[in-house]
Amino acid sequence: MALLDRLIAASIGFIPKFMVRRVAWRYVAGEALDDAVTAVNDLASRGCCATFDLLGEFVKESAQADAALTEYRAVLDRIHADGLDANISIKLTAFGLLLDEEEAYGRVHQLVTHASTLGNFVRIDMEDSGCTDATLRIYARLRQEGLDNVGLVLQAYLRRTGADVEALAGLTPSYRLCKGIYVEPEEVAFKDAEEIRVNYRSVLDAMFAAGSYVGIATHDPALVEAGRAVVAERGLANDRYEFQMLLGVTEGIRAQLVSEGHRLRVYVPYGRDWHAYCVRRLKENPRIGRYVVLGLFRRGA
Ligand SMILES: Cc1cc2nc3c(=O)[nH]c(=O)nc-3n(C[C@H](O)[C@H](O)[C@H](O)COP(=O)(O)OP(=O)(O)OC[C@H]3O[C@@H](n4cnc5c(N)ncnc54)[C@H](O)[C@@H]3O)c2cc1C
Repeated sequence: MALLDRLIAASIGFIPKFMVRRVAWRYVAGEALDDAVTAVNDLASRGCCATFDLLGEFVKESAQADAALTEYRAVLDRIHADGLDANISIKLTAFGLLLDEEEAYGRVHQLVTHASTLGNFVRIDMEDSGCTDATLRIYARLRQEGLDNVGLVLQAYLRRTGADVEALAGLTPSYRLCKGIYVEPEEVAFKDAEEIRVNYRSVLDAMFAAGSYVGIATHDPALVEAGRAVVAERGLANDRYEFQMLLGVTEGIRAQLVSEGHRLRVYVPYGRDWHAYCVRRLKENPRIGRYVVLGLFRRGA
């Protein structure tokens, strides 16, 4: 299977854009904000709330980071105007984290403040392990400045995550917990699928024990079950957790969770940067390529 994964990843750059688009359009709402709003309205009709993700990361010029801020402000305004049950997810490298941390902080501060005036919420995605410390610094700084409408993501594959939850306990953060998508060295990340699951369950429990709100972000049936179990054992109401999934993935499990009465948020990526995003993701994590290719066949069946 690893060979097939590598083959898919190696060929992705040569696949014509229109073909990548055919596959990507299941996972990306489209290029424009209107496309994402259409997807969010469709999800609402299926009982799901959403988080908007403007595609783009690792910007090389501050003008691109300023543009991300402008577009995300427009997203928040649109959510407000249309009364959508949705928030936003951002990547700090799209706000210039790797160019100048202080300027990136300034942009994110403006955005979170704008969200606060509209009664909305900003989730900071977690990127590769080179960004983890800076992401935690920026999150803590926003909270120290009194902005509580901001949350962050931790990755169960990172060996440090249990310790991060302990260190952050004083802030009672709103978390999203995911496995983690980036390819990391063995010193920093668990590699074995079962070890990652074990850590996911343990971190999830620690987050709830610390009183946090948790977005249980996974499509893995074993972890969805673990999420259901911990929520039932702890007797948690809907204001303490939600499940989260990516657009176009495991829609059957998603519908089942909604029918059981769980809150379910779908991550809705959109934007002109979709091709670069898909190619980068597939190259970084060939396993995803396999899901995508298999999904294409399943859809045609
Ligand atoms: C809402 C949300 C937000 C996320 N935010 C982040 C983040 O900030 N930082 C980060 O590093 N990672 C993030 N991720 C990605 C996450 O870390 C995983 O890489 C990804 O979700 C797969 O993990 P899994 O738990 O679904 O388990 P897996 O074992 O990888 O997948 C379980 C099953 O789900 C299906 N599946 C999973 N992913 C896909 C896919 N992309 N396409 C098609 N089928 C798929 C497959 O059928 C697979 O067998 C996020 C994921 C979600 C759901």
